[in-house]
Amino acid sequence: MLDLTRIAEAAQYEGGVSRRLFLATTAALAALPSLALQAQTPTRKVAFASNPFTLGVASGDPDDASVVLWTKLAPVPDDPDGGMKPEQYEVGWEIAEDEGMKKLVGQGKALAIPQLGHTVHVEAGGLKPDRWYFYRFHVGDAVSPVGRTRTLPPPDSRPDKLRFAFASCQHYEQGLYTAYSQMARDDVDLVFHLGDYIYEGPPREGLVRKHAGPARTRCRTLADYRLRHMQYRLDPLLHGMHAVCPWFVTWDDHEFENNYANDIQEEQRPGVEPEHPVDFLIRRASAYQVYYEMMPLRPRSLPHGPDMQLYRKASFGRLAEFFVLDTRQYRTDQPNGDGVKPLNEAALNPNNTLLGRKQKGWLQAGLITSTATWNVLAQQVMMAMVQFDTALRKGYAMDQWPGYAHERMALVQFLADRKVPNPVVLTGDIHCNWVNNLRVDDRVHDAPVVATEFVGTSISSGGNGSKELPEGAQKTLSANPCVQFFNRERGYVRCTVTPTLWTSDFVVVEDVTQPGGKITTRASFVVEAGKPGAKPA
Ligand code: FE
Ligand code: CA
Repeated sequence: MLDLTRIAEAAQYEGGVSRRLFLATTAALAALPSLALQAQTPTRKVAFASNPFTLGVASGDPDDASVVLWTKLAPVPDDPDGGMKPEQYEVGWEIAEDEGMKKLVGQGKALAIPQLGHTVHVEAGGLKPDRWYFYRFHVGDAVSPVGRTRTLPPPDSRPDKLRFAFASCQHYEQGLYTAYSQMARDDVDLVFHLGDYIYEGPPREGLVRKHAGPARTRCRTLADYRLRHMQYRLDPLLHGMHAVCPWFVTWDDHEFENNYANDIQEEQRPGVEPEHPVDFLIRRASAYQVYYEMMPLRPRSLPHGPDMQLYRKASFGRLAEFFVLDTRQYRTDQPNGDGVKPLNEAALNPNNTLLGRKQKGWLQAGLITSTATWNVLAQQVMMAMVQFDTALRKGYAMDQWPGYAHERMALVQFLADRKVPNPVVLTGDIHCNWVNNLRVDDRVHDAPVVATEFVGTSISSGGNGSKELPEGAQKTLSANPCVQFFNRERGYVRCTVTPTLWTSDFVVVEDVTQPGGKITTRASFVVEAGKPGAKPA
């Protein structure tokens, strides 16, 4: 096991944060995925006193020939080690064409090792494109539930339809995951999760549910993050949806810490001691490692110490190209602090970046070479430059793209100059639904619309919302003509994409405080191919 205390001491002895030290000390971790895939340990008889598959199964990051199959052995999910001994276990997997698991098309063995929390990330390959499959795991005499997954169409094909859902922000204490029960009935091909999969804060009294763990203690250690993720995933509606179709996941801030920016902590309230920078990066390494462990990600996504490349792309044939972004890990600090502030010189500073140089270059190269009808940025924070002017909030949100306005405007200018076909931005983070028409500079109301943004509300964060507009919202909406729709109920967004039309349905759950909350489609918006900007369906 990685001795983080020793690294902290050594790094402090060096007088500061040493990434070199991190990389050297954690290099051994990089060898783990291949080790896990080799599975050459002798098999011994394994018996579990209770079901080791309490967290279900998941799949993700498919391409046209392979998909990641995931599970974790955790017979005791309220124990940080999942009730597992610090030993490695051989886990069998099977993938079939039928739900009865009779027509097998692949099978093998993988190692669940204690260093990765006894998780399994199998890359099942040699599959046919554009097909549904079924999979399951077994260990000893225990068999997992059967999950359903699919491959993507061939990259040069022209599919006539894609249905997917995107979701974000699932605070466990603030509401139930009823939204996922509807999503499971929606017959979607894919799910995109845009971040705040867990919340790292301490347990609180008086809410719908309660985080496990000691009072007033937020997640700090590997064990804390493991416990938190297991508590969330134990929810049958959440792991049930993971078993329905493959997911593409990306994180926002709460998978590690509220509003962090790369290695910079959120602004501390007066009187609160900031964390030592070394401790902060060690915590980031733990948070990222557990995120990798718990998600159906490719083994190449395994973090190296506090660094983990999560940005990547996926092609649904030539119908849609998805660019899954990471706007947290490489960003510069929020200008003017984390709040709503004027779009001043600090906010417009060209050195501010949300993407970082490498990710931005990768994104631009991908956008230029894409041959897809729809080019989709699946990302975290709102891109529309919305000006708030209420008693409480005056200005622009500095944690979102307006805090990085130069890069934001240059990116939309790039989409316009390079005539990137049908750019669509998908966003999470702020627990409300928005539809926005994006211009190079949204303050110039008569400039041409370049792209369309759909912001999805939270699954549960914030508790019950309301379909009524809050005080002062109407004024904000009229002052910002880029906004086509605003709503603050809970739910997710379901999208149907064809070569000529994009449809986004805003699915809402009226009550997330008790089971069986009423589910409705509050609004639907469409974008016609070749005509940027949304209109009501
Ligand atoms: Fe959130
Ligand atoms: Ca967030």
